[in-house]
Amino acid sequence: MSDCIFCKIVAGAIPSRKVYEDEHLYAFHDIQPAAPVHILIIPKAHVASLADCNQSHADDLGRLLLSAPKIAKELGLDDGFRTIINTGKGGGQEVFHIHAHVLGGAKLRPLVDSVASA
Ligand code: 5GP
Ligand code: ZN
Repeated sequence: MSDCIFCKIVAGAIPSRKVYEDEHLYAFHDIQPAAPVHILIIPKAHVASLADCNQSHADDLGRLLLSAPKIAKELGLDDGFRTIINTGKGGGQEVFHIHAHVLGGAKLRPLVDSVASA
């Protein structure tokens, strides 16, 4: 078994609150939610980060992004949601199995404005 905690979650070796699963993807509630709804979507196949992806990951990346609005809708995020992919330590990535955060359920602070004025 890989040391990766998200691979362990996919394998069921670490419990998670699953919201979606298919052959390629797994989605679950973040353990430390930063918004009323905070989901992580991951490909089942391990790749560390967006910076480690190449053309062979294009299908999984497409599936991951296209699943976000469907999962958001299932969770009642009718007003919109935010999708974040942190990449590398400098990008704030802490778990090195690529994942998209899906956040919503409240009015979110304008992220780009706060970065630009910092
Ligand atoms: P990153 O900073 O890498 O973009 O985000 C990693 C996210 O994974 C964090 O929001 C953190 O709360 C979440 N996380 C870390 N360990 C676990 C875990 O064991 N279970 C769940 N459900 N979420 C986790
Ligand atoms: Zn992994």
